Amino acid sequence: MIIFQNTSLTVYQSVLYQTNSSIISLEQSVILVDPTWLPSEIQKIKHYIATEQANKELYIFFTHSDYDHILAYNAFPNATTIASKAFVERTDQEKILEQIKKFDDEYYIQRPYPITYPSIDIVIDQPTQRITIDNVQLHFYKAAGHTSCGLFLVLPEQGVWIAGDYLSDIEFPFIYDSLEAYKDSMHTAHYLSEKYDIKLLIPGHGRPCYNNEEIKKRIYESEAYLNDLTEVKEGDLSKNTEKWTNRYPFPKGLVKSHLDNWKLIHHHSSSS
Ligand SMILES: [Zn+2]
Repeated sequence: MIIFQNTSLTVYQSVLYQTNSSIISLEQSVILVDPTWLPSEIQKIKHYIATEQANKELYIFFTHSDYDHILAYNAFPNATTIASKAFVERTDQEKILEQIKKFDDEYYIQRPYPITYPSIDIVIDQPTQRITIDNVQLHFYKAAGHTSCGLFLVLPEQGVWIAGDYLSDIEFPFIYDSLEAYKDSMHTAHYLSEKYDIKLLIPGHGRPCYNNEEIKKRIYESEAYLNDLTEVKEGDLSKNTEKWTNRYPFPKGLVKSHLDNWKLIHHHSSSS
């Protein structure tokens, strides 16, 4: 379903994990970000692009390589793809594809296209990089920590910030990469919130942010989580898990993520 729309931007949100797929509409081009989840939902996005954005050059930007963000890659065979160098260089691509296949098998989902790892045409290989599409500037910033291959995308003229799986209002940070890298990304987030006049921040999951005050709040919330996770001792972990999961609307779904985060940064091997 569409959760936000203006003349230059449409945001579709999946019923699964409230995952956002954004469509940025330029004069001759359209940039689709992380198209996802169910075949019917992807079909709606395809239909919207084919009808409302007809005859435009299609780009797909993958914010990072988590399986839910790349699974519709082959649904858009003519698109020019954009992602980070780390995305291209992931050595666990087969594992990511297995996650898609496992999900589809589990729910008996048939997709009318093959599942392969995205091949990337425009590789963002600098920590800060600018490209221009249709005379519109796209500013990319490295955003690791959740995964090693994440990117923030800012469109300064539109005041839009596509944040990938950071700064969500419905989940605390999920750290699959590293705590230090995650903290660096939050420093970058502060910087972006001051450098640009952001009117809209779109996270990978949950509600968009419509002003700088709310963006700052989300950055501080993520930082508070990271600090607390660093300090909590094993004996206090179950109480701490309750505290952090109960802040969000789907607490039971977050328990494992909190424990996995704790294990990752306290160097215990994951038992799952
Ligand atoms: Zn993710």
